[in-house]
Amino acid sequence: MANLGKPPDFDVVVIGAGFAGLGMLRRLREENGMSVQVYETGDGVGGTWYWNRYPGARCDSESYVYCFTFSKELLQDWDWSGKYPEQPEILSYLNHVADRFDLRRNIQFNTRVTSARFLEDTSLWEIETDQGDRVTAQFLITGIGCISSGNVPDIKGLDSFQGEWYHTGSWPHEKVDFAGKRVAVIGTGSSGIQSIPVIAEQAEHLSVFQRTPQYTVPARHGTVDRKFIEEKIKPNYEEVLEKARWSVGGFPIDRDERSALEVTAEERLEAYEAGWAEGGIRFLGASFKDISVDRRANDTMSEFIRNKIREMVSDPETVEKLLPTDHPFGSKRPLIDTNYFDTYNRENVELIDIRHSPIQEITPNGIRTEDEEYEFDMIVFATGFDAMTGTYFKMDIRGRNDLSLKEKWSEGPKTYLGLQTVGFPNMFMITGPGSPSVLSNMPVSIEQHIDWIADLLQFMRDGDIKSVEADENAETAWVAHVNEVAEPTMYMLADSWYLGANIPGKPRVFMPYVGGVGNYRKKCNEIADNGYEGFILDAGRR
Ligand SMILES: Cc1cc2nc3c(=O)[nH]c(=O)nc-3n(C[C@H](O)[C@H](O)[C@H](O)COP(=O)(O)OP(=O)(O)OC[C@H]3O[C@@H](n4cnc5c(N)ncnc54)[C@H](O)[C@@H]3O)c2cc1C
Repeated sequence: MANLGKPPDFDVVVIGAGFAGLGMLRRLREENGMSVQVYETGDGVGGTWYWNRYPGARCDSESYVYCFTFSKELLQDWDWSGKYPEQPEILSYLNHVADRFDLRRNIQFNTRVTSARFLEDTSLWEIETDQGDRVTAQFLITGIGCISSGNVPDIKGLDSFQGEWYHTGSWPHEKVDFAGKRVAVIGTGSSGIQSIPVIAEQAEHLSVFQRTPQYTVPARHGTVDRKFIEEKIKPNYEEVLEKARWSVGGFPIDRDERSALEVTAEERLEAYEAGWAEGGIRFLGASFKDISVDRRANDTMSEFIRNKIREMVSDPETVEKLLPTDHPFGSKRPLIDTNYFDTYNRENVELIDIRHSPIQEITPNGIRTEDEEYEFDMIVFATGFDAMTGTYFKMDIRGRNDLSLKEKWSEGPKTYLGLQTVGFPNMFMITGPGSPSVLSNMPVSIEQHIDWIADLLQFMRDGDIKSVEADENAETAWVAHVNEVAEPTMYMLADSWYLGANIPGKPRVFMPYVGGVGNYRKKCNEIADNGYEGFILDAGRR
């Protein structure tokens, strides 16, 4: 073929310019000395924080651990203003990183990768974009995000709606004005519970369409505690970060190593009240060790939250609708809110239970459920994402023997460590399915993958190795392990997007790795130390 012997256009093509793409670009360019081209659909950096500009959009990880850690100077220089970083602030942080490390010169914005094909004769990837680019690279690395394909449900009649409608995951850059409007929010996942209280304060009337009642924990958001950051975090940053890297969820917090069932009811209540008062991820993260694996232990926490809902919401009928009884706490993505339940005490807010009265259609003037017709000026879809695999399937990715990724993953994603998938040599996924990814504080997992991939690429360069591919047996064993560790957990007891349950027709497979960030890191390190066990390294091609 024409390409034989011809050097590729780039050593590496990276897709996406969020945390993953930016970090990968910097690492490979600055430390590996490789040529890198990044393609990004959006017209700026930021990924999640570029697209999700809905009111109330905020990160649930505390700001001092939701950041890059490769630069000591950056860690010391950057000051977050909020306890939890809000969307505009994360976006300006990522813009700062892009400028400070001169990353934009290798990013082509407004460019969507449409296909990527592995050329077997040269072991190169050929990448095509919607802007007409067609380039080759030795390596293809996806930094496309786990939750970056918004899911607008296929409801009859949406085209006929005469008002405005938005999805939280692709929110307009201009301010959306809710004043004087009758607004519907469909969905009570993370984006819903963040946006509902803010929209309620601005709209004339807000109707929330709820399918699943949720457990949510107060964030206790506020301005950052400067004394804590200056005295406890900044002087000890490396120690704090190491703790996060070797933890279960990527947060520097200690879990209570007792069982919820071995303490007295009073001690348990005291622990839950303390966690509730601290709020946020600490409520779950620092709690008893068996909440996520023992249903009886979990019941004590689930009931604690239900009691809080009973206390917070005044109307008994609304309380009944809000009480989550069909799944245990922590079986779906943990939610952290500001004034969510209080919002249902407002005069201008109503809750519509669409599990009992499903939406039939969207009409020119609003929404019709089985029981009633409602009129709206605006509909907000807070309906989440086609997570973990949706964004991959929007591209035509083809490996050896023209195998398409979509076909290979038709029964659910299959990977080795969430980093590679058999049949797709020299392609890596940052936080791919089968890695801790969405079950963790993601920058910790993203950076771990960035470093691991960059080290492997260096190892290959040093050893004149041209291609790397996961071994079939290693992949099969890893997929089995991912399933095995998920099986006894609460995660299997809910219809969640972790299981693909929010997307009609999607195979029901638990996609992230639940074994913990620290254990996973250890495993990846051991594999690398053993000469990249489970990967086939080939010096022969090209
Ligand atoms: C509302 C919301 C709240 C969140 N809260 C938290 C939190 O509290 N804690 C936490 O750890 N994580 C949170 N996350 C997860 C968040 O996605 C990650 O923390 C992190 O931002 C992911 O970075 P990324 O670079 O991997 O992916 P993303 O930020 O999703 O970036 C991927 C980029 O790839 C681009 N892209 C995709 N396909 C293509 C293509 N074919 N061609 C070109 N470009 C493409 C996209 O445009 C996007 O810009 C949240 C996510 C959302 C949506």
